[in-house]
Parts: sequence; C-alpha cells; structure tokens
Amino acid sequence: MVETVEVLLSSEDIAKRIKELGAQITKDYEGKSVVLLGVLKGAIHFTSDLSRELPLDVEINFIKPSSYGDGTVSSGTVSLDYIPTENLKDRHVIIVEDIVDTGHTAVKLKDYFADQGLASLKFCALLDKPDRREAKDLTIDYLGFAIPDKFVIGYGLDYAQRYRNLPYVGVLKGAS
Ligand code: 5GP
Repeated sequence: MVETVEVLLSSEDIAKRIKELGAQITKDYEGKSVVLLGVLKGAIHFTSDLSRELPLDVEINFIKPSSYGDGTVSSGTVSLDYIPTENLKDRHVIIVEDIVDTGHTAVKLKDYFADQGLASLKFCALLDKPDRREAKDLTIDYLGFAIPDKFVIGYGLDYAQRYRNLPYVGVLKGAS
C-alpha cells in the first residue's frame, strides 16, 4: 500500500540545487582529487547525483553509522557498521549526508574523521532541519535545502526502509 505523499521538493528542484552545489564544490576543489564519503543508506542518490556534477578527480566511498535506537544518542564517538578500507590519510574528504536533524550524527562523523590525518574535511548535506538542531557548533559547509521540522521521505530517505526510491522528497501523510 502506498500512503499519500505531499511533495516538498520535486526531482527538478533537487537536480537544480545539486547542480549549484556541484559548481560550488568544483570551484572550491579545482585541481584537487576528492573523496566523497556518502552516508548509508539515506545519501545513496544524493552522493551519486552530486558526483556526476563534479568534473574533478573523484572517488566515491560510503560509511554506515550504527543506528542509535530511539533518539538516545550517546556522547561518545560514533560507531560505524561500515568504514572504507582505503586509507584516507592526506585526502580531501567530503562527507555527504542526507539530512541533518539534531546534528549529533554529523558532529560525531566529523569528530571521527578529524583525527585520521586527512588533508581536509568538509560536510555536505542535502537537507537540514534547523529548528531541530541540538549540536549548536555544527557547520554544514555545503547545504542543499533548509526545511521545516517535518518527517520527510524519498530520494534516499526512508520510513521503515520504504520510499527510498522516490525521485522527490515528500512528507508522508498519516505516518505517526
Ligand atoms: P541527527 O543525528 O542529525 O539527529 O539525525 C540524522 C539522521 O536521522 C539522518 O541521517 C536520518 O537517518 C535520520 N533522520 C532525521 N530526520 C529525518 C527525516 O525527516 N526523515 C528520515 N527518513 N530520516 C530522518
């Protein structure tokens, strides 16, 4: 059964903004090789589409943070279910995330990679819910869209593992 979905960002909106982000990143990293570290699973489409807007020397890899359960986030370092096997030392790395909510995941990912001897580390997110932010000192270097405090699905984002395949970002009607 497919519930009603209210479209928040159409596939055209998303494609246009990713082109703009791609142009900005291309300018910032001119002449450098870049590692995109997509955050599984939500950032699969964003990582893929963004990479195709970067006429640079690009490597794509993924990381998968462990899920924390119902929003209870420990203050320790993030634990990762999947870490790239490649050595990222001296590489220019951009973490590519689907959505920033409280910001705790983003801060922990940045902290994790901060002491890996990278040449540089930046954080890119497609979506941000600024009203939900708890990690006040988080900088999002490249942001697609700031959105209202609503639970969104589609374009990689799931509800109970469904809807990741939708080409747009929407709000699920009737989901609690
Ligand atoms: P944070 O640590 O910033 O609170 O949580 C970030 C993670 O929570 C995201 O990577 C995503 O997995 C999940 N998340 C936060 N808001 C939403 C939302 O509106 N929709 C979906 N599908 N996942 C969300």
